[in-house]
Amino acid sequence: MGAAGLYIVKIALAVNRGSIRKRSPQQLSQLDLVLRKNPRDVLRDVFGHANFRAQQEDVVRHVTEGGDAVVLFPTGAGKSACFQIPALCRPGVGIVVSPLIALMRDQVEALRQAGVAAAVLNSSQSPDEAAGVRRLLRDGKLDLLYVTPERLTTESFLGMIGGIDIALFAIDEAHCVSQWGHDFRPEYRQLAILADAFPNVPRIALTATADPATRADIIERLRLGEARVFEQSFDRPNIAYAITQRANGPKQLLDFLKGHQGDSGIVYCLSRNKVEKTATWLNDHGIRALGYHAGMDARTRSANQDAFLREDNLCLVATVAFGMGIDKPDVRYVAHLDLPSSIEAYYQETGRAGRDGLPSNAWMAYGMTDVVQRRRMIEEGTARDEIKRIERSKLDALLGVCETAGCRRQAILKHFGEAHGGQCGNCDNCLTPVDTWDATDAAVKALAAVYRTGQSFGAGHIIDVLLGKVTEKVTRFGHDTQAVFGQGRDTDQRVWQSVLRQLAAAGYLSSDANHGALQLTEAARPIFRGEQRIVLRRDLPKKRSDVRRQLAAALPGPAQDAFEALRAERSRLAKLQGVPPYVIFHDTTLRAMATAAPKTFADLESIPGIGAAKLERYGAAFLKVLSAI
Ligand code: ZN
Repeated sequence: MGAAGLYIVKIALAVNRGSIRKRSPQQLSQLDLVLRKNPRDVLRDVFGHANFRAQQEDVVRHVTEGGDAVVLFPTGAGKSACFQIPALCRPGVGIVVSPLIALMRDQVEALRQAGVAAAVLNSSQSPDEAAGVRRLLRDGKLDLLYVTPERLTTESFLGMIGGIDIALFAIDEAHCVSQWGHDFRPEYRQLAILADAFPNVPRIALTATADPATRADIIERLRLGEARVFEQSFDRPNIAYAITQRANGPKQLLDFLKGHQGDSGIVYCLSRNKVEKTATWLNDHGIRALGYHAGMDARTRSANQDAFLREDNLCLVATVAFGMGIDKPDVRYVAHLDLPSSIEAYYQETGRAGRDGLPSNAWMAYGMTDVVQRRRMIEEGTARDEIKRIERSKLDALLGVCETAGCRRQAILKHFGEAHGGQCGNCDNCLTPVDTWDATDAAVKALAAVYRTGQSFGAGHIIDVLLGKVTEKVTRFGHDTQAVFGQGRDTDQRVWQSVLRQLAAAGYLSSDANHGALQLTEAARPIFRGEQRIVLRRDLPKKRSDVRRQLAAALPGPAQDAFEALRAERSRLAKLQGVPPYVIFHDTTLRAMATAAPKTFADLESIPGIGAAKLERYGAAFLKVLSAI
C-alpha cells in the first residue's frame, strides 16, 4: 500500500466507529437483538421465495453474523442474494462494488421493483443526482449502494462512509482483481484497503470464475485468507453443449437459430468485420439482429446493448467486448462462430445463457482455420515467452474439448478440477455418440502430402493434392508429379478437412505464423515411422433434432397461451417504465403463474418470485390477464 492508501485508511479508521463488531456464535442471541430482520423472512417477503437454493442459506447466515466470505458459485446459482439479504438483515447500508455501470443499473432497478431502498453512485450521474444519493446515504435511508471500485477508493468517499453504519462490503465479479482472469481491472487491487479501514465490517467477494489460479489470486489480493470459502459445482446442467465442424458457418448458424425463434441470444465472432457481416446476414434472413463491438461509436453500442436487455426477441452479434456483468436471465442461446481462446473463456461466454435455469443452448461451429488463426494470434502477440506458453496450453486444452469423442461436460469440468461421471445426456456427444476410426493410414497420407509439397501450403491446397485435383496452383508447382498426388481419392473432401483439423488440433501439424502454411512437428515423426496409431473422431453433419431436443419444454396448450399473454403484459409494463422485462418477473415466475392459474392475491403470493412489493404493484394487472384467458 502506498502512502496515500495508508492515509486513507487512517482517516477511515478514525471515523469508523459506528459499525457492529464481529460476533462469535455465543454472542448470537445478542446479535439477534441488533439484527433488523431474519434472513428467511427477507427471502419470502422481499424476494417471494420460500426456500434458499443449495448453499445460499449458509452464506447468508455466515455473512449476516458478521463473517467474511468468498463465494465461488457458477452463473445462475443466485450469488446476489448472498449479499443482498445480509445487507437487509444487518443495520446500516450494504456497499456493493461492481465493475460495470450497466450491471449496477439493472441490479438496482430489480431491487427497487422488490421494494428495496437501493441506489447507485457512478460517473454517469448528474451532480444533482449524485448529491441526492449522498444525502440518502448520510441520512441512513439506503439498504444497498452500488459503486465502482474507482469511486469507492477515493479519499472523499471513504471519508464519507467512515461516519455511517455499514452492513457489509460485497465485491462482485471479484475475478477482476486477478491478471489471470479475462477482465482484469487494476482498480480492484485497491480494494484490499477495506480490510484495514473497516476491520469490523464483513466483506464478501463473489465470482463465477472456475479457474483455480484466479481463485487463489482473489483470496490473496483482497486479503481474504481468513474468510470462509463457499464453493459449488461449476456444472451448468441446463446448458446443452454442442460443437460442430464448420462447413458453411452462416448457413449452419441459420439452421441452429431455427430452433430459437422468439428467443434472445448472443452470437460471438472474433472480428468486428465478421460481427457486422453476420448481423447483416441474419437480418437479411428474417432474424432481428444487432451488432456490438469496440469499434462502434459509443452511443450505438450502448443503444444496442440496451435493446438486447430490454427486448424479448433479439440476437446480439458481438465480439468478446460484450458480456461481462450482463445479468439478463433469459438468454436462451450463445453461439460461437469462431473458437474462443481457452476453456475459461468458452465457459464464461457460454455461461451467459440460461441464468434462469431453463434449458439453453451453447453451440459452436469451428474449423481448421480457427486453429491456425488462434495459434498465429499467440505467436504474433507481444506477450513474454512464459505467458505465450500458458496461452498455448490453454488453447490446446480447449481444442481437446472440441475434439473429444466423449462427454463435453465431463471434459470442461475436468479442466476445472471437478470430477463428473460423463454421459450427461445434454451435450451433442452424449445425445449422438461419436464414432471413432483408426485414421493412421489417412494421417500418414495427409502428413506426406504436407511434407512432399514443401510445408509451404494451407489445408485447401493439401486437400487438392490428396484428391488429385488439377488446379492452377497444382500445375504451377508441379505437385501433380508427386507420388502422393491423388492418393486420397477414395476419401471425401470433408473427411480430409476433418483429418487435417484434428491433426493440427492434436499438435501433429503446426502452421507458419506468417502465411498459415502447414508444417510437421516433432510429434508427427512416430506416425510417419509407423510407430504410432492415430484414432480420430468421425465428424458427421449434426441433425437439427439434436439441438431442438434441448429447448424448454412447451407448456400444455392453455398454459402456453397464458404464458404468452403474461409475457405480453410484462413487456407492456416494462416499456411504460423503461426497464428490462426481467426486473419485473423472470420467465420462471411467469411459467409458474401460467401453470398454477392463480385467481386471488393469496394464490399469487405462493408463486416463487413474487414478494410483497411486486404483489402489490403488479398483482392486479397479472390476475386480470389470467382471468381473461
Ligand atoms: Zn455429455
